[in-house]
Amino acid sequence: MELKIDGLEVKYGSHKALDGVSFTVGEGEVVGVVGPNGSGKSTLIRCIAQIHKPSHGTVLLNGRDALKMEPGEIARVIGYVPQNFHYLFFSTVMETVMLGRKPHIKWRVTPHDLAIVQQSLEAMNIRHLADKFMDQLSGGEKQKVYIARALAQEPELFLFDEPTSNLDLKHQIDVLEITRSLTRTGKKSMIVALHDLNLAVTYCDKILVLTRGKIYAAGKPEEILTPQTIKDVYGVDVFIVE
Ligand code: ADP
Ligand code: MG
Repeated sequence: MELKIDGLEVKYGSHKALDGVSFTVGEGEVVGVVGPNGSGKSTLIRCIAQIHKPSHGTVLLNGRDALKMEPGEIARVIGYVPQNFHYLFFSTVMETVMLGRKPHIKWRVTPHDLAIVQQSLEAMNIRHLADKFMDQLSGGEKQKVYIARALAQEPELFLFDEPTSNLDLKHQIDVLEITRSLTRTGKKSMIVALHDLNLAVTYCDKILVLTRGKIYAAGKPEEILTPQTIKDVYGVDVFIVE
């Protein structure tokens, strides 16, 4: 999937949450979005997922205008995991992941759909949870279920908004390893909002630094996440990258 964003602007009332954001994401690329709270990371991701319509600018998915695509079509190409998700208490893990197949199911669930659901559960190491109800899970387990649901969608572009925020370090690394390798092998693309700059440096091919709705800098992690950037953007002096 190739994604091209040009001049994106989003307003909440008179407040510009995104202001002239442009960048591209290539096939197989993992792009990290970092920046302080309120800098526009979630807004940017929701805008690409077509949950927010921008007041200006374009989002092109493989050269096609996403604003003109049907919701069902978007759901076949974009797998989005929001920062804060709502879950259905009375659904099992299996049912929740099965929802990811919905955009692909024409008439009824096929053995192929069930196989994809099983693979997605396995990829996230949560197969043993398949029959549990969502409200029986820890925060980290729920997060893995939602990532599995996105995998079951078999999208071309993953949009993960702080996918590791409920996880301990081992599980953070697990999730990023798994999703990055799926992105690479399947020639998919991934945009991931991260707070942890060390994880961003380790797992992303490209970093986008947002401040107050604008791109402060974009490029290779080691070139972008310099002590000067950290000071300018986060207002702190102490930051160590190996
Ligand atoms: P981040 O994900 O980087 O923390 P957000 O995209 O959530 O940033 O928010 C960007 C800005 O837009 C913030 O100033 C936030 O308060 C504002 N904002 C986000 N969502 C809404 C909303 N639904 N209504 C009004 N303002 C919002
Ligand atoms: Mg956010």
